[in-house]
Amino acid sequence: MSAFPTTRLRRLRRTDSLRALVRETALSLDDVVMPLFACPGEGVVRPVEGLPAIAQRSVDELVREAGALASAGVRAVLLFGIPEEKDDEGSGAWDADGIVQRALRALRAEAPGLTLLTDVCLCEYTDHGHCGVLEGDTVANDETIELLARTAVSHVDAGADAVCPSDMMDGRVGAIREVLPETPIVSYAAKYASAFYGPFREVAESTPAFGDRRGYQMDPANVREALRECALDLDEGADVVMVKPALPYLDVIRTVRERFDCPVWAYQVSGEYAMVRAAVAAGHLEEPRAALETLTAIKRAGAGTIVTYWAGDLARWL
Ligand SMILES: [Zn+2]
Repeated sequence: MSAFPTTRLRRLRRTDSLRALVRETALSLDDVVMPLFACPGEGVVRPVEGLPAIAQRSVDELVREAGALASAGVRAVLLFGIPEEKDDEGSGAWDADGIVQRALRALRAEAPGLTLLTDVCLCEYTDHGHCGVLEGDTVANDETIELLARTAVSHVDAGADAVCPSDMMDGRVGAIREVLPETPIVSYAAKYASAFYGPFREVAESTPAFGDRRGYQMDPANVREALRECALDLDEGADVVMVKPALPYLDVIRTVRERFDCPVWAYQVSGEYAMVRAAVAAGHLEEPRAALETLTAIKRAGAGTIVTYWAGDLARWL
């Protein structure tokens, strides 16, 4: 590259259209997935203070919201469920008439164009809030993956287009692949034991009753281990690997993108959304600009698709 004054990088920054012509990263509604939370009842919309996109909705309200998202151009939603009752093994997760299964059937009928992804885990359904069944104080891996596979099958039977195991048990992708040879599996391959899940746990009512999830989720300090997780999940039959959270793990997204040729997704978690919303409420940041900058950063790092609470807003902003 010849030096200044021959080279002047400001030449291409002069106008909006010049900048657009050379822009390296573009956000599109094709690249985002909106998380939705289904809860029992009718006419229920229970938001978390200051976080409008994170609300529990009864199935009728969920259908209304999904319809609005679809007509705004959002293509995919990721479903979570808050059941009527919880028990020690989380049996509500695979109940054919469970909350996610009912939501799936309603959405399949009312919003046929929408792609329906489901989170596959037990933590919203266990009375102790851990992601699997317990053996003493630890989550029993091999017993849990059987129950996760059963849960994934019940989601597909109810209309799910793809399943997304988020539990971080070893071998869960293989267990699901064995019973669902045709279903896309979006694996939360590198899911970290993060401080940024706070608002989600409130809305998903999935805070562990004791201890934490560091015995199965990843240590925030590790990136080589994330590559091993991805390699194992792909070996077991995952179609997509996901990194969660996103913004504090951009280096992980980049490293995974460079190592593997499969689709790489990232989950911009509730704490990332809450952080910006709080700064906006306090007058320190402007919402569309700050939110779009975080989404652009995640995409620039290498995520092809982003699960984000801003998916609905993005439809308005673009
Ligand atoms: Zn879980």
